[in-house]
Amino acid sequence: MATPTSIDAKESARLLDSQEFCQQAHRVVDFIADYYKHIEEYPVLSPVEPGYLRRQLPETFPTSPESIEKILLDVNNSIIPGLTHWQSPNFFAYFQTNASTAGFLGEMLCGGFNIVCFNWVSSPAATELEAIVMDWMAQMLKLPPAFMFPTNNASHGGGGVLHGSTCEAIVCTLVAARDKVLSKVGFDNITKLVVYGSDQTHSTLEKGARIVGISPQNFRSLPTSTATGYRLQPLAVQAAMADDIAKGLIPFYLCATIGTTGVGAVDPLEDLGLVAKRYGAWLHVDAAYAGSALICPEFRHHLDGVEHASSVSMNLHKWFLTNMDCCCLWIKDTTTFVSALSTNPEYLRNSATECKKVIDYKDWQIALSRRFRSIKLWLVLRAYGVDKLREHIRSDVMLAMVFEKLVMADARFEVAAPRRFAMVCFRLGANGEHDQSMLNRKLLEAVNSTGKLYITHTVAAGVYMLRFAIGATLTEERHVRAAWTVIQEEARLLLTQRPQLL
Ligand code: PLP
Repeated sequence: MATPTSIDAKESARLLDSQEFCQQAHRVVDFIADYYKHIEEYPVLSPVEPGYLRRQLPETFPTSPESIEKILLDVNNSIIPGLTHWQSPNFFAYFQTNASTAGFLGEMLCGGFNIVCFNWVSSPAATELEAIVMDWMAQMLKLPPAFMFPTNNASHGGGGVLHGSTCEAIVCTLVAARDKVLSKVGFDNITKLVVYGSDQTHSTLEKGARIVGISPQNFRSLPTSTATGYRLQPLAVQAAMADDIAKGLIPFYLCATIGTTGVGAVDPLEDLGLVAKRYGAWLHVDAAYAGSALICPEFRHHLDGVEHASSVSMNLHKWFLTNMDCCCLWIKDTTTFVSALSTNPEYLRNSATECKKVIDYKDWQIALSRRFRSIKLWLVLRAYGVDKLREHIRSDVMLAMVFEKLVMADARFEVAAPRRFAMVCFRLGANGEHDQSMLNRKLLEAVNSTGKLYITHTVAAGVYMLRFAIGATLTEERHVRAAWTVIQEEARLLLTQRPQLL
């Protein structure tokens, strides 16, 4: 821990004094830098018991100012023990949320300016920068021009916006797709609208569908199988849509995923796109995790067929060195999108909006208020350039290949799903005939309770498996190898104590 020199509590309570701001901000930066320096010393998964913090903090609020020094001491003593260390190089759970120096500095600028860029006039630079970085990203991903802002200042066409999460992006596209259909068939037909995804589609789709008023009975979670690599099958979607139409229902939204959360599967965009087109459904592409990898030419083919999609989203805070939060959403038909989400209250009227030559991003999202996320993404893009970003993705994929080989070299284990990016699904008990879920649950518990690494699990086509997701910025090959040694050792102990489990 850095030991800061004392700052008087009264001084620290000066609200935005530039000298104080400078001193205290330096102190917090030193604190965070120190945290990163020692991050490997903490148990990755926090070992605290529920309610631990209430026992440590005062029962009621502070009445007089306290020094930053004292507050940071409490962060150190009470908050850090209750953190699960997502930036630890031994964090292999869920999907990582990347941090980088540029991402952090971008967050500082975003928080430092603390503007609210809901329409163009409320901060022209923020709006214009957002449109520029969204186009840069679209170019980097080789998205069709239909997803980019029109160069001729046309008021219709495509474009992109930064949201905080995929959930928001999906809710907004569901709203646009819903209103597009209902404006044709009548708003009282909402009970007939049907949403489609696979049993591997992220739960955010089901939640989003509920939020926008789709009946839970009209949510189709189509089964995937081991044989087809857990991919959503176009023929199954087609059959489900045809069946629904025969029942008088209206297929209106299909979600395809590039890099599913459970196993990293890639749904076949090209064929799903044709099915969506045939039935007039909005096709959304959720590339929350794997979208970042698509900037590498060797992964870009996963986006083939994207021209059939109505919208695409990806969380750059997962794998693009962009600190939380930053979700890109591109839409082809921004007129439909904006008309579903726009409001025009008197207190926001202004001449720039009225001349229709500007973007008012409040009409591209749920909330009115919004953060200056584009400055963060701009910093990341400029500080690293596409070369460094590709190198970062590739090195994680290489590490995943190292881990995959280690699993394959141990006959007690098996790789449980095809690896597409930097996540390996594996399980103990190489005989696929037997249910090894109890064994693997126990292994997961044993591994995580060492505090040396953190992994999570999934179930696909009824098979319980462990997920080893690589992507924390500080992870090196030595961390991956050390993690595997811990997993092997815990498996050995488990099997020695209870060989009947295998
Ligand atoms: N979609 C996929 C494929 C994901 O992996 C995730 C989260 O990991 C989400 C959606 C949810 O993202 P958010 O938390 O940004 O809503």
